[in-house]
Amino acid sequence: MMQSFYRDTWADIDLDAIRFNMKQMKERYPSPKKVYAVVKANAYGHGDVEVAQAALEAGADQLAVALLDEAVHLRKQFPEVPILILGRIRPEQAPVAAEHNLMVTIFQSEWVLKADQYLNEPLQVHLKIDTGMNRQGIKSADEAYALLTTMKSTSLVLKGVYSHLATADEDERLLLETQMTRFQQYITEFQDYFTEEVEVHLGNSAGAMRFPESMYDAVRFGIGMYGLYPSDLVRDETKIPLKPAFSLQSRLIHIKQIEPNETISYGTTYTAQEKEWIGTVPLGYGDGWIRKLQGFHVLVNGKKYPIVGRVCMDQFMVKLDQQFPVDTPVVIIGEQQGNVVTTDDVARHLETINYEIPCMINQRVPRVYH
Ligand code: PLP
Repeated sequence: MMQSFYRDTWADIDLDAIRFNMKQMKERYPSPKKVYAVVKANAYGHGDVEVAQAALEAGADQLAVALLDEAVHLRKQFPEVPILILGRIRPEQAPVAAEHNLMVTIFQSEWVLKADQYLNEPLQVHLKIDTGMNRQGIKSADEAYALLTTMKSTSLVLKGVYSHLATADEDERLLLETQMTRFQQYITEFQDYFTEEVEVHLGNSAGAMRFPESMYDAVRFGIGMYGLYPSDLVRDETKIPLKPAFSLQSRLIHIKQIEPNETISYGTTYTAQEKEWIGTVPLGYGDGWIRKLQGFHVLVNGKKYPIVGRVCMDQFMVKLDQQFPVDTPVVIIGEQQGNVVTTDDVARHLETINYEIPCMINQRVPRVYH
C-alpha cells in the first residue's frame, strides 16, 4: 500500500474515544432529545468527516459547524444528516445553504429580507438569541417580533431557536442565571412562534454536562466529544468520564552529545552546563508547535524531557539523560509507558485553553485514524 505521508510526526485520532464520549452524552440526552456533534474548525483539528462519522455511529443526531464551507463539505459525505451552521452566512449565499439542505443561524431582520430575494426554495433557519454573550443574536423582544413577523412572508422556515452560554464552565452564577432566565422569557413570550417542531437549545458541553435539567430539546456537544473537559470545574463537578481522542507522536531523528558551554538552536537561548545528550524532534512552529513551547517537555521512553533552545520551523531539541537510538518514539501529547502529557498540560504552559491545542496543530501534521 502506498504510504499516505512520509514524515516522522503525526497525530493519532482515537475514534473509539469519540464514540465513547458521544455515548456519555447520548446516555444523558436520549431520544427524543437531540445531541449535535460540533465539528467546526475541522472537528477542533481532529478531522471533520472522520469525527462526524464516529459521532453519528455513537448516536449523535445532527452536526453543527461554524461556516457554510464546512457545512457544504460535510453535506457531500452525509446527505441525510441535519447540519446547523452556527455562524452568519451572507444573505446572497442563502440559496447555497438551501440547495444543500443546511440549517442557517439568523438574527437580523434585514438579512431575512435580503436572503429571501435570492431564494427560490425553502431555507431552514434557527433564530439566535443573544442572552448575554454579546457575540451574535437578537438582543430584545422587539427585535425578535420584528424578525419573526418579517419572516412570515418569506421562504424561511423556523426550525430552531437557541442561545449560547458565556460562563457555563466557570464558577460564576450571575451571568449564567441571567442568560438562562432571559432565554426562558423569550421561549415563553414567543411560544406561538416556537411551536412543537421548533427545536430549542441552549447548552454547549459545559452547559450540557453541568445542567442537564435546563437544556431544553438539544445540546451542542463540542469539546467534551474530543475527550477534553471545558474546565477543571466541569470535570470535578460532573465526574463524567471522557477519553481524549488526540495524541501527537514523533520519533527522534538525531541524537548527539554536546560539550559544556555549547548552545542549542537559534539565538543561543540555551547553554549546556555539562556534557549533555540532545535529541532532535521533527516538529516546529510551521506545524503549529509554537516557539512559546520552549521549556515544555515531551515523553521519551516513558520519561519527561525538557524542550531546550528555540523551537524552529520544522524541528525542536530535547535534553535527554542518555543516548537513545535514532527512531526512538517521542510522545508529544499522549501516554507513553504509564506517563502522560495531556492537552491540558500544553494549554497550561501556553496560558490558554485546551480547545486551542488540537486546533493549532495544523494540516501539515497528518492525522492517523484508529
Ligand atoms: N455552540 C456554539 C454556538 C459554539 O460556538 C460552540 C463552540 O464554540 C459550541 C456550541 C460548542 O462548545 P463546546 O466545545 O464548549 O462544547
